[in-house]
Amino acid sequence: MKVLITAGPTREAIDPVRFLSNRSSGKMGYALAGAFVHEGHHVMLISGPTRLDVPHGVDFLAVDSACEMYEAVASYLSQMDAGVFCAAVADYRPKEVSAEKIKKDGAVLTLELVKTDDILGSAREVFGFDGVLVGFAAETEKLEEHARRKLISKQCDLIVANDVSRTDIGFDSAENEAVLVFPGATEWFPKASKVELAMRVVEVVDGLHGRRGH
Ligand code: C5P
Repeated sequence: MKVLITAGPTREAIDPVRFLSNRSSGKMGYALAGAFVHEGHHVMLISGPTRLDVPHGVDFLAVDSACEMYEAVASYLSQMDAGVFCAAVADYRPKEVSAEKIKKDGAVLTLELVKTDDILGSAREVFGFDGVLVGFAAETEKLEEHARRKLISKQCDLIVANDVSRTDIGFDSAENEAVLVFPGATEWFPKASKVELAMRVVEVVDGLHGRRGH
């Protein structure tokens, strides 16, 4: 199976030295890339900036902004059997990027932000992707309900949701506890390492791919 994985945060430039970003470490996406390769699959990892080593045997494409990640996914997704969208893509970016470093002249600085394109949300409708589609959802409340809404709106086969209000799992942690939300079914995955969760996702994606008759 050929699998595209997005991972890490994105950086949205404000000026030549500043950007907006988030707390994603990329660990979950890199664990997924390693787990798919371990099971003999071909992986294209499209990643925002992280401190992690790229797992051996993975095709790697480094991107910076949400816009760059969108373009990279648009170029490669059609060649894939599955897409696993684990990146914490910025939802907003500065409308204008200042060519010069912004001076700290005023007591208040107002940035105008515009929405970025939803990459996962574009997979079916814009890119016409018909392979197995998996999204992740970082939630702080009503985990299953919010994940199920995303499953439908982004036309996914699976949403893996985790509670980012907890400090022992999720962002930057080595561990995760997740809810796997499928059309018509929910699976609770107890607290375990991100590698173990990655292995479960590989198993599930493999099964979904098999069921599509490939
Ligand atoms: O809607 P929300 O951002 O919570 O959805 C999370 C899922 O959507 C993740 O799989 C994330 O990688 C993906 N996403 C994306 N592009 C965006 C925002 C989210 O691919 N601009």
